[in-house]
Amino acid sequence: MNSDQLQSLSNADYINRERLREIQWQKLEVILKHAYNNAPWYKEQWDKAKVKPSDVKSMDDLHKLPFVAKQDLRDTYPFGLFAVPKEKIVRLHASSGTTGKPIVVAHTREDLEVWTHGVVRALAGYGVTQSDILQNAYGYGLFTGGLGLHDGGQALGVTVVPISGGNTERQVMLMRDFGATVVSCTPSYFLHIIDQAERMNVDLRKLPVRIGAFGAEPWSDEMRTVIEERAGIKAFDIYGLTEISGPGVGAECIHQNGTHLFEDHFYPEIIDPETLQPLPDGQEGELVFTTLDRFAMPMIRYRTRDITTLYTEPCPCGRTIRRMKRIKARTDDMLIIRGVNVFPGQIEAALLSVQGTSPHYQLIVTREFGGLDNIEVRLELLPEYFSDKIGDIETYQRQIGHEVARITGIHAKVTLVAPGTIPRSEGKAKRVIDQRKI
Ligand code: ADP
Ligand code: ZN
Repeated sequence: MNSDQLQSLSNADYINRERLREIQWQKLEVILKHAYNNAPWYKEQWDKAKVKPSDVKSMDDLHKLPFVAKQDLRDTYPFGLFAVPKEKIVRLHASSGTTGKPIVVAHTREDLEVWTHGVVRALAGYGVTQSDILQNAYGYGLFTGGLGLHDGGQALGVTVVPISGGNTERQVMLMRDFGATVVSCTPSYFLHIIDQAERMNVDLRKLPVRIGAFGAEPWSDEMRTVIEERAGIKAFDIYGLTEISGPGVGAECIHQNGTHLFEDHFYPEIIDPETLQPLPDGQEGELVFTTLDRFAMPMIRYRTRDITTLYTEPCPCGRTIRRMKRIKARTDDMLIIRGVNVFPGQIEAALLSVQGTSPHYQLIVTREFGGLDNIEVRLELLPEYFSDKIGDIETYQRQIGHEVARITGIHAKVTLVAPGTIPRSEGKAKRVIDQRKI
């Protein structure tokens, strides 16, 4: 990508908001007709809801259309939502889907370009340039992390090292030998890389690596601090989901104060997940996206199940595109413990606020005979804080339990385990073990 192309891509980030609205509307008009005329599923749903694309006369009318839920993608598995002839489809991806069938997503060549441009804007926004070397440790395959960062990095002109996830010792070795300056993977996997580097006596702080693009799972500001201090890098958020394209639906800028959404392509709404009514900016709810220019499988009002808040206050970077707060949770991750709603992210923030704790933790939920739920927080202390003295252990357990209760309102059993015993993941970390369903 030459500098003019990059410039024109980045200009979209700083666009006048009225002009943005016009562009969004022009694209929406086209995509709604396309979906209605070419994906029989949309026609059927909208006919049932008695709305036609022509009833949507501006962006403000979008809410008249019904939602697409994750279950709809499962019900139409594998190809039931495709809206172009097979010859136009150049790539398929699928989300892991924790239960049952995966969700399949198709891309035309132009769709891939839209996705890639999101990743380019993300990387460029962190300050990545053609002179950087990107170690891409997201998994390659049907999961969108690997190829998403790969294509985006390559389009920007970065040197991409397509190492994929896993083989952590080799990750550290190549990071050192190739002098990677940027790394991309899930934040939990990067922690694993940090631990491995320490075991190999490699000090990441002394290596050229300076930027991390982390996403694909919820993470907290506390986790960011841990990563930045231990690796001597700047850790940036990258957000996305398979249904909407992949990573690069939004990303933080150098100010690290919210994830800018590339809303000229991916139009966001926030709805109340109970009443399904749209909520104004500033209010927390479920994020819904409409893909404004993806043709193989347009997503019109797709419910992400991600809980967050959108806001328009100007960012010091000057970008005009809206920001969203960290994904607080996925509605499907919400735990209800004795009637109290708890998100794993809250517990993460609570336990990391106690000195000496590590971000390696798991939450085990069990149900007593009689129906009462219990939650156990199992976590590792940092090796230098680990002790086998009963008194020390008790003090930590009390402190951590207190913080968890303060932030979430629930009383959790806290168990400290030896460093290295919580299973490490090469992709998305599995934080919750819910034994109630077994
Ligand atoms: P799956 O649903 O199988 O996890 P995806 O790989 O498409 O499939 O994951 C998308 C989801 O991952 C998002 O809906 C969101 O819940 C989570 N996610 C992605 N990026 C981030 C991020 N930066 N912060 C928090 N959560 C994220
Ligand atoms: Zn900004």
